Amino acid sequence: MADIYIRGGWIITLDKERRIIKDGAVAIEDGVIIDVGKREELDKKHRFTSDIVLDVSRHIILPGLINTHVHMMQALLRGCANYVSLIDWLTKRIWPLQGNYTPNEAVVSAKLAIVEMIKSGTTTFLETGLVGRYGPDRIIEEAVKPSGVRAALARHVMDLTGYATQENVLHEGLIEDGDTSLKDTIRLYHKYHGWMNKLWIWFGPRTPGAVSTTLYREIAAKARELETGITMHLAEVREDVEYTLKNFGKKPVEFAHWLGLTGPKTVFVHVIWVTDEEIDILAKTKTNVSHNPCSNMKLGSGAARISDMLKRGVNVALGTDGGPSNDDYDLLREMKHAALLQPLRTLNPKSIRVEEIIEMATINAAKALGIDSITGSIEVGKRADIITIDYWQPHLKPLNNPLSHLVYSASGHDVRNVIVDGKLVMFERKVLTIDEEKLLNEVDKAAYTLYERAGICIEPDTVWRIM
Ligand SMILES: [Zn+2]
Repeated sequence: MADIYIRGGWIITLDKERRIIKDGAVAIEDGVIIDVGKREELDKKHRFTSDIVLDVSRHIILPGLINTHVHMMQALLRGCANYVSLIDWLTKRIWPLQGNYTPNEAVVSAKLAIVEMIKSGTTTFLETGLVGRYGPDRIIEEAVKPSGVRAALARHVMDLTGYATQENVLHEGLIEDGDTSLKDTIRLYHKYHGWMNKLWIWFGPRTPGAVSTTLYREIAAKARELETGITMHLAEVREDVEYTLKNFGKKPVEFAHWLGLTGPKTVFVHVIWVTDEEIDILAKTKTNVSHNPCSNMKLGSGAARISDMLKRGVNVALGTDGGPSNDDYDLLREMKHAALLQPLRTLNPKSIRVEEIIEMATINAAKALGIDSITGSIEVGKRADIITIDYWQPHLKPLNNPLSHLVYSASGHDVRNVIVDGKLVMFERKVLTIDEEKLLNEVDKAAYTLYERAGICIEPDTVWRIM
């Protein structure tokens, strides 16, 4: 007997054959998908025997989306850093704010990011870098675990204070030494890694300029020993190339490869300023790339060569990046921007297909996180991470091509139901695991207390006059 029976419209399975089932249905028992097929057939078995029947015949059913680049600590900073390029964005705005966080504010920011992700259909995410001052244990216990979603959480590891060619630019509130940051990552790993098959601890080395080569090698070795992942920003701006070339005579991907950081358990983020040879290294080593088009466009960082990477066999996934670089955590909106950016970059409308974009937000991302055996598609035997998207709305009609509509026309607001690990996390747009109203009431207070402490973002940045 199924716990949840979804009587759907279009099921986009992302299974090995990439089946699309019109008038389909899915049955879930004990957190596992036990049946996928035509509604007519499955109705006979499950319609009147299941505990919960979700009648969503006017919905598109999709595997839960997977966001491969999230800064939970930037949710409170939304709107705080416009019109600046990356290095100023970091050193003058973001780091002074992040370097002033208290653990209480960190929990609020984490919850805000997670609620937004749930409401826009994300069921798994990769956090790029927690540090000691945020209180990672409290974030895990009070925000991540109760939310019901899956998460791979990288903790930052560092022993220098620069960014690319700029030395001593990291905010004092964020500085940690190599020993502390490495040991604390290992501590978190032993405490949480693998919890309920929903939580994993990764290594999050800071960007070149903030980590010595010795420490990078230690991180690579330790991650391999513990069989966990590594995620790092790489080749995001031209200064990143300048730094590795000038100091090591290597381009960014060559540099990372030389240090042992490449491989199937690594997710490099942005990867914009790379050559064909570097793309070949990524393909050969099965290193994953997280593409974050909105952030790249907003900060004027550049347009990543995603269509070239896909052609050369690199596993590319999608990410939203953080509150003040996007400024949202809505992966459906990110899909549209990813689909638009490649034709603009190449002046070729055929450069990327919607199927590739949907793969980047689901199965490719599951592969990047090393969890494609449990999630990323709607298949019998996988854990049930499923979202339903209401297409009975003006902007999604006529429904001649659900794949095209998902990428070009839908947004996170269209997601109605979210199931993670066989449990309803959002039903009819009501989040069931976090008190959204209570959280929204806490957000402004936490944010403005933080802004005041950091002396940033207190007044809106506008050339207009506020009365
Ligand atoms: Zn980032």
